[in-house]
Amino acid sequence: LDEPMNLTQPEEVTSFQDEVSLTQMDVESLWHPMVQHKKYERTPPKRMDKANGCYVTDSEGKEYLDGVSGLWCVNVGYGRTELADAAREQLVELSYFPLVMSHSPAIKLAAKLLELLQFEGKVHFSNSGSEANETAFKMARQYHAQTEGSRRYKIISRYRAYHGNTMGALSATAQAERRAKYEPLVPGFLHVHPPYCYRCPFGKTYGSCNIECASSIENTVIHEGAETVAAIIVEPVISGGGVIVPPDEYLPMLREICDRYGILLIFDEVVSGFGRLGKMFGHQVWGVKPDMITLAKGITSGYLPLSATVTQQHIFEAFLDESDPTSHFRHINTYGGNPASTALSLKNIEIIETEQLPEQAAKMGAYLRAELATLEDHPYVGDIRSKGMLLGIELVADKETKEPLPGNKVGAIVSYCLEQGVIIGRNGSTVPGLSNVLIIAPPLILTKADADLIV
Ligand code: PLP
Repeated sequence: LDEPMNLTQPEEVTSFQDEVSLTQMDVESLWHPMVQHKKYERTPPKRMDKANGCYVTDSEGKEYLDGVSGLWCVNVGYGRTELADAAREQLVELSYFPLVMSHSPAIKLAAKLLELLQFEGKVHFSNSGSEANETAFKMARQYHAQTEGSRRYKIISRYRAYHGNTMGALSATAQAERRAKYEPLVPGFLHVHPPYCYRCPFGKTYGSCNIECASSIENTVIHEGAETVAAIIVEPVISGGGVIVPPDEYLPMLREICDRYGILLIFDEVVSGFGRLGKMFGHQVWGVKPDMITLAKGITSGYLPLSATVTQQHIFEAFLDESDPTSHFRHINTYGGNPASTALSLKNIEIIETEQLPEQAAKMGAYLRAELATLEDHPYVGDIRSKGMLLGIELVADKETKEPLPGNKVGAIVSYCLEQGVIIGRNGSTVPGLSNVLIIAPPLILTKADADLIV
């Protein structure tokens, strides 16, 4: 304290002090999601400073292969300067304007999404996957309210599904531990069993099961009263709930049930959109068209916040009765579809198309899956599931009984991979027995050498 400040201090010392004070500020100021902060007081989280391609570099200069693309979103990889340029140019031209009026990048992106989806319909923008799903639920309820004065309001989703953190999206989320302490949630949300063949909830085996996971949904609809059910929301492949890939018959059967009972089918493609499953959109893998589709994450590869709720035209048309002053969609958000996000998204989609990233995801995902087969004999590996560049390894303590591997052992594997320079994920549950799926969802630009490193 007595010494005057030494202005010629060596650079390393300054950056060491910066480092200490940033770590201190982190612990003192930042409320991180999904962690017990007592842990971070003992061991502060890694701070990532740089990223390029599939790799991120922490504040100590250590590189990691990001095997989960951030939060399953950095589809085109990190460090794409053309995306930064697109956002910058747009910010200089028109930094902000709400979509109660209009602007070019939002118009162009909406048209591009409809073209890619081969939808005749409309695109509504928001900022996150949760909001896109909230928007879909409100549109579904209002659509039904305005068609034949219907009283349909119930939304059906599946156990293990994650559809977001806001109250409606959390109500559709069916993971007990995520909902606990926030209940009661929004009325009118129901849950059914997922198509989880490895642990079939109906005790059946694929091939002789009549796809009961789908047909039983019809029973739920009948018992609830079909005239009260507004929509069914599903991810084509349950991602965060443990990479649950449905049998091929499943989504077509859901479509039939929805058509039979006048229920809207919503596909949550927040994760599966933009190439992840080996096609531009997940539903294209099975050729089943939803009535509504929600998109986020890969829509900007995570570079800026943006999401979309896309509807078929017949839904939009129910909002056009000028004689009713409440018939339009009475829902607005400040930032949704902002110029920089939409301009960046257009460039991001251009990269996905020109670099044929969905095809890449199919090819490299198949390679990864084939190489992971070397783990099948491992005593902890119960099941390996995948579609495109979305892979899950379900871990068991006992292959015969399928007793789940305890969470602390799963955590140890994830930590070991991190030490080895590979970030992998696990499904988010803390319920014993439901947190034992390792998740691999790397950027779609993954090379063979990167895939080998993960394996
Ligand atoms: N839907 C699915 C399938 C997701 O995986 C997520 C997030 O992980 C969401 C919705 C919510 O998206 P967001 O975190 O952008 O609100």
